[in-house]
Amino acid sequence: MRKPYPFIVLLIFASITGFAQLNRPKLVVGIVVDQMRPDYLTRFYDQFGQGGFKRLMAEGYTMWDVHYNYIPTYTGPGHASIYSGTTPRYHGITGNDIYYRERKKSEYCVNDTFNVVGNSVAETGKGLSPRRLIATNICDELKLCTSGKSTIISISLKDRAAILSGGHMADCVSWFDQKTGNFVTSSYYAGQLPAWLSTFNDRNLAFSYINEKWTPLYGSSYYSDCITDTTICAVTKTGEKVLPRFPHDLQLPLNSKEATYSLLYKSPLANSLLTDLAIEAIKNGNLGKGENPGFLAISYSSTDVVGHLYGPHSKEIKDTYLRLDQDLDRLITTLDQAIGKGNYVLFLTADHGIPEVPQYLASRKVPAGYLYHKPLIKLAADFLDGSYTAGKWVDTLINDQFYLNRKLISEKGLDLAAVQARLANYLMQQKGIAFAYTAAEMKEGEFTSKLAMAVQNGFQPKLSGDVMLVMEPGFFEYEEGYLVEHGSGYNYDTNVPLIWFGQNIKKGESWQLHYITDIAPTLSMILRIKYPSASIGNPIVEINGQK
Ligand SMILES: [Zn+2]
Repeated sequence: MRKPYPFIVLLIFASITGFAQLNRPKLVVGIVVDQMRPDYLTRFYDQFGQGGFKRLMAEGYTMWDVHYNYIPTYTGPGHASIYSGTTPRYHGITGNDIYYRERKKSEYCVNDTFNVVGNSVAETGKGLSPRRLIATNICDELKLCTSGKSTIISISLKDRAAILSGGHMADCVSWFDQKTGNFVTSSYYAGQLPAWLSTFNDRNLAFSYINEKWTPLYGSSYYSDCITDTTICAVTKTGEKVLPRFPHDLQLPLNSKEATYSLLYKSPLANSLLTDLAIEAIKNGNLGKGENPGFLAISYSSTDVVGHLYGPHSKEIKDTYLRLDQDLDRLITTLDQAIGKGNYVLFLTADHGIPEVPQYLASRKVPAGYLYHKPLIKLAADFLDGSYTAGKWVDTLINDQFYLNRKLISEKGLDLAAVQARLANYLMQQKGIAFAYTAAEMKEGEFTSKLAMAVQNGFQPKLSGDVMLVMEPGFFEYEEGYLVEHGSGYNYDTNVPLIWFGQNIKKGESWQLHYITDIAPTLSMILRIKYPSASIGNPIVEINGQK
């Protein structure tokens, strides 16, 4: 052993070349389009330009049979599941709002007591956080793998979308404030906004956008397939009809009590504003620089609110997607220039879908309809009053789950499982309700049929209700101010597009069934990092185009 040095040099060299062979992308870009159904890709295909959706589909790998495998299919659980590779049962985000029995109170899924950062007005104690997300997500794992060196940026119009995508350790998580038009963050993440984001806010682009009107992007021939029936419209809390009628003003009427930028948020121009911000993040946010891969999560929310207000066959939703198509073109062009073609991987998916408008289905002889909150609660309460003695048996109905007054049940010496079962059996007899499952069943059994399994994947013993409802297809609980609402385990809510694009991604398309929980493990495969802690999915190996 007189000359140990060459051996050491060789080892170092081998480790360096081995690392290089990992061939990781410089940047991963995750795009979630809130409420996007796969049929939008085909229905609007002819009107898309060459550089947006069409380019992603032509050069990337499009998967048509990707589904959510839990109920409820809402934005909070959706983003948590995409990025953590698991379902509410394991990541803890069981709804946009979560009911806490001990406090008899529902709380927003990212609610916390930090401070809001980035607004001129001080908002103390209203800063949000991801602390209810109890599993790690892919961004967390990238941070852990690179000892914190990877840059993670997560942006959205919706706070919960940005927060639940970015994970627990992101460098910058920012969302749109409808009062000021600024993109803000929480002191959970940082005491101040990064310089590039402050500079962006200083440009006051939101104000420029509200001075435009939302008019259709193209001539009327582009929208000839849309439903323009003004009898089908959402009704706001104050009774005003939200008419599908262009052009839509983005400035509020005088004396309005709404936030200044709320109409902008309800239009696709807010998605364009988010694209402006994403472009700024790519150029100045330190992404894809140095040895460690960066991660940019973008969630487009205007698609969701437009879908709720006007329905999936409206001129408004089509125009929203044609505009998003142009935004994606701008975004991909920027990525090619700033990060380099073939140096990044992009995926695009959705956090849930949306059903057809029930009035429209009914007019076409398809069974569909709304169920209403107060009558549903009364139905359960009256039944329990009649079955036992009069009392306040029902605590609440939220996320299609009844929470019963367990204290009263115990005081009366009743068996909780028996009360749950009795109520579930009764509710299943009602029009619009297909099944009702009890918490006792969910804890004990192992369900395999699609909808029961979806309920179980969304069931978290500490947080979920006593009786979980599954409505009949086409039926859902009416949400005040909305024309249509998602949340079910049916295909219109569970089936979302998934497109992979970029470095080492094969060209093509697939109808192979995959669940949304496969996305995070696939990102682990691409980034060569470990799986998020509670991930239950499998990497989608078929996208791999590496020779
Ligand atoms: Zn929604």
